[in-house]
Amino acid sequence: MSDIFGKIIQRKISADIVYEDDLALAFKDINPQAPTHILVIPKQLIPRLSEATNEDSALLGHLLMTAKKVAEQENLADGYRVVINNGEQAGQSVDRLHLHILGGRRLSWPPG
Ligand code: 5GP
Repeated sequence: MSDIFGKIIQRKISADIVYEDDLALAFKDINPQAPTHILVIPKQLIPRLSEATNEDSALLGHLLMTAKKVAEQENLADGYRVVINNGEQAGQSVDRLHLHILGGRRLSWPPG
């Protein structure tokens, strides 16, 4: 787990962790783009959504349900957005699948 999020899972670098279970970890983004900006990651290394396989289906469902749970925990009842950037052109900068949860302000559409 030499990637930066792997190091957060292993507690080798610190993060503001808001949720953890056997399969997933959620922590505050270091460079928030909204009043609430949390990342949900699987503990199993999947570099990007496009590399997920059918065997990962239950885990992917778990990550979405984790996003829902974290949004409730963070009082985002007025609305929130869940984003996955897949690949360089989409702005993915960390090679471990992660879901962004963004909320706490009105979000424009379409994204840039
Ligand atoms: P991406 O651009 O890959 O979709 O999202 C990566 C996100 O990870 C960015 O929003 C960035 O701010 C966040 N990030 C990068 N390094 C760290 C870190 O060391 N700690 C935390 N908490 N967030 C990070």
